[in-house]
Amino acid sequence: MIPFIDLQAQRARLGPALEDAILQVVRSGAYVMGPQIAEFEAALRAFGEAPHALSCGSGTEALVLPLMAWEIGPGDAVFCPAFTFAATAEVMPLVGASPVFVDVLPDTYNIDPARLEAAIEAVKAAGELTPRAVIAVDLFGQPADYPALAAICARHGLKLIADSAQGFGCTLHGRHPLHWADVTTTSFFPAKPLGCYGDGGAVLSKDARLQDLLVSLRVHGQAVASDLEGRALDHDPKYLNMRVGMNSRMDTIQAAVLLQKLAIFRDEIEARNRVAARYGEGLGDVVRVPRVTAGGVSVWAQYTIETDDRDGLAAHLRGEEIPSAVYYPVPLHLQAPYARYPAPGGLPVTEAAARKVISLPMHAYLQPDVQDRIVTAIRNFVKKNG
Ligand SMILES: *Cc1c(COP(=O)(O)O)cnc(C)c1O
Repeated sequence: MIPFIDLQAQRARLGPALEDAILQVVRSGAYVMGPQIAEFEAALRAFGEAPHALSCGSGTEALVLPLMAWEIGPGDAVFCPAFTFAATAEVMPLVGASPVFVDVLPDTYNIDPARLEAAIEAVKAAGELTPRAVIAVDLFGQPADYPALAAICARHGLKLIADSAQGFGCTLHGRHPLHWADVTTTSFFPAKPLGCYGDGGAVLSKDARLQDLLVSLRVHGQAVASDLEGRALDHDPKYLNMRVGMNSRMDTIQAAVLLQKLAIFRDEIEARNRVAARYGEGLGDVVRVPRVTAGGVSVWAQYTIETDDRDGLAAHLRGEEIPSAVYYPVPLHLQAPYARYPAPGGLPVTEAAARKVISLPMHAYLQPDVQDRIVTAIRNFVKKNG
């Protein structure tokens, strides 16, 4: 089987420097909040053109932290797509709020701004929940329609989160999602475009007060600079807790790994775009290949095509030792824990996409000859099954 994502090819490219970086942390003893954490957060700010960046325990916690900071909870509605990884919607019940599911656009699989506005109106008219925020997802690596989403959020007084776990590094008209969103969150799970060697995540933001709150919430609501202004303390402020937070620190070792990986990330994004272009040329006339929104640059977390005989294609590929995967076979609003939450007007585009999508091997180190084998296998399947 060829790899679906080849993390070992990347490791070989990074060479001994990567393992040295890990060993350096082991030898230093600074396993938690070591100097590599601040160094990595500075590198993230530079890369993401963000005034503030906070590393945290995972992409899921990166979504929880801003919801906590904005005191979103029981009685509040947060709008999101259902065609996404569970974590996008899971964080609402985690803080006591309700997800409200919105359909996606058929070409990008990202949240449909017109349907979003209709869903906000529907929730307001029903009068049971208070709209507070929108979580847009950069699904499979490409940016959501942030100019339209930001305008809607401004009109209705809602916060806008860019869940960029799959899309970190993507741009629209040359700008990162944070240009329009209040915060961008990402995940460093190993299989994401920018991954570490375990779990990790980050929140990028623009507002100093919000950053202060996130810093506090990341470590059990501990007192931060703004809490201590004008206070004289007779004990260590480390153990002064100002609010209920949690433990969401990222390990120093993961920051050391990410510093190495971030240094080649731009180059990897270019390589991913070359791989995607080659798939497009080889497959565009036989299956529905992905369309990137005008002015957008995807980081290609997945290369996802659509076909009516997905199971047949997957079996054929398996026979040729080519792996494939389905993201996502069952949209969230149809899964038991989420079926109780509103999905105003239904989600026909989401449900149709979930029946047809299949993702192909995609990573920055996919060699042209291997890729041509994949393309040929798909073309042969389509020819045989017309
Ligand atoms: C992976 C993912 C997350 C969660 O990230 P973890 O680091 O696994 O917690 C959230 N949203 C989306 C869209 C994801 O793909």
